Amino acid sequence: MAVEPRQYDLAVVGAGVNGAGIARDAALRGLSVIVLDQGDMCSGTSWISSRLIHGGLRYLEYGEIPLVYESLHERRYLRRIAGHLVRPLRICIPIYEGARRGPWLIRIGMLAYDLLSWRKTLRHHKMLDRGEIIAREPGLRRDGLRAAACYYDAQVAYAERLVLENLLAARSAGAEVLTYSQVTAIEHGEGRITGLSYRDTLTGQQETIQPRTIVNASGPWVDEVLATTARKCKRFIGGTKGSHIVVSRFPGAPREAFYVEAAADGRPFFILPWNDLYLIGTTDIRYKGDLASIRASRKEVDYLLDETNRVFPDAQLAIANVHYAYAGVRPLPHREKGPESAITRKHIIKTHRRIADGLFSIIGGKLTTYRNLAEQTVDKVGKALGKKLPECRTDDTILPGAWGLDDARDSLAGVNGLSDVGVERLLRVYGGRAKAIASLIAERPDLARCIDDHGKVPAAEIVFVLAEELPRTLTDIVYRRMMIGLDADQGRPLYNKIAAIAAQEFGWDDERAANELRSLIEFSDSLRVG
Ligand SMILES: Cc1cc2nc3c(=O)[nH]c(=O)nc-3n(C[C@H](O)[C@H](O)[C@H](O)COP(=O)(O)OP(=O)(O)OC[C@H]3O[C@@H](n4cnc5c(N)ncnc54)[C@H](O)[C@@H]3O)c2cc1C
Repeated sequence: MAVEPRQYDLAVVGAGVNGAGIARDAALRGLSVIVLDQGDMCSGTSWISSRLIHGGLRYLEYGEIPLVYESLHERRYLRRIAGHLVRPLRICIPIYEGARRGPWLIRIGMLAYDLLSWRKTLRHHKMLDRGEIIAREPGLRRDGLRAAACYYDAQVAYAERLVLENLLAARSAGAEVLTYSQVTAIEHGEGRITGLSYRDTLTGQQETIQPRTIVNASGPWVDEVLATTARKCKRFIGGTKGSHIVVSRFPGAPREAFYVEAAADGRPFFILPWNDLYLIGTTDIRYKGDLASIRASRKEVDYLLDETNRVFPDAQLAIANVHYAYAGVRPLPHREKGPESAITRKHIIKTHRRIADGLFSIIGGKLTTYRNLAEQTVDKVGKALGKKLPECRTDDTILPGAWGLDDARDSLAGVNGLSDVGVERLLRVYGGRAKAIASLIAERPDLARCIDDHGKVPAAEIVFVLAEELPRTLTDIVYRRMMIGLDADQGRPLYNKIAAIAAQEFGWDDERAANELRSLIEFSDSLRVG
């Protein structure tokens, strides 16, 4: 007997920040939801970002006042619901003679930023004179330095964890989350959605489901997903490529984040203290190539190194100092003409009525505004379903790791062999959910042993991740759950030990374990430069 396809109110295509946020919001409002990603969650644009939860000072230059206002308000909500992941960050803008943006322009921008973040919880900006900024940051280039403006924004060091926690919350509210499930066809007829087919990219298994509405939240792949419908669509995405490099603390390195005007092209870029390292980026170049394997080019890496060395002359950074680099494409609305930086960062929720009622695509957006975007999208989904949905609760329903931090810290402090730095690391990554790692050790004391030499990574962490965090490959575990892939050494010394534990828990045979290890090393190598 043929099995009826599973039915859902909503299928979300793409488990980046937007798809995850939409799935969580929809599930919390009582819809039956499935979210599918062709790879792991947060393996697209959301991980290659600058990891800032920011108003976007630069957007003021392009008159995007509503976007800055929205972003600054979202920053407040994200601090509230994900305080363990989204932390305040002080950013300084040095002002040099002859710069495109002089002291008055920057001052006006700062005042507008403060005004737009009305009711904010972060402090107002402060202007520093030359002497004050040199005293704070002695490594800063002094020639032509006039003053500096310092203001607060926020940083989500592990955007991957923000996405994951949205998915875990969606799952707790009843959503189904399928990774490595590539949508291959959106079926429709007589103006209605009739099915959605997907293929498990690890097992090759094909499946068809029957969602009543679909949100295409596939970021830079939006046009490709639309191409799986029977109707030809115009192009919606015209992405620009952005690259970052990661280096260790360098001579003269700033204590705080810096937002600097590049000498080469006048574009502002960031030098950000991040993950005990420095994240430097980004570039902004129109991109039409393959989306599967985007790399930072040598030219982009040199640009970022040269500009950093110019502002912090003692740094003397060279290609050999770059631990790794990452690059991706901003899923911006398609525009043929005009400067890249002027393309709007506002999101568009496109309704595809000409294809089928209940089909939507997300074009553009920012990490910062994902929650609000999700709320607006789910409101539209509710209308398409003809349902009066309960009010959105995502602005004050905290994410799973945001509570119980003190309790988790107390439980972990009692674990033999785990160092203080190790406890803080676990809290930074898992928030209050880290308590479950201590509980696991209480049940299975053999898992208390640390697999590194510094008491930072207990074996129980890997077992916890496997049981609770939906990874399917070793790369998922290292890069998007434990976050050690983003360390200076990319976590390489621990690969074999993690693989051994994962093989045992997952029941991988030797061949599968070796393949997983090979793929992980290939991925790590692909981020190297030079
Ligand atoms: C260089 C750079 C820096 C940035 N910095 C910031 C910043 O500091 N702050 C900020 O707020 N924003 C920033 N952004 C913007 C922000 O990162 C993105 O707008 C946001 O992450 C987009 O999320 P998304 O969920 O729409 O897309 P993605 O994260 O790309 O997710 C889309 C998902 O869809 C999946 N998918 C694709 N095709 C299919 C298919 N056929 N079937 C199933 N799944 C599929 C992909 O695998 C992917 O995981 C930056 C962007 C870039 C490029």
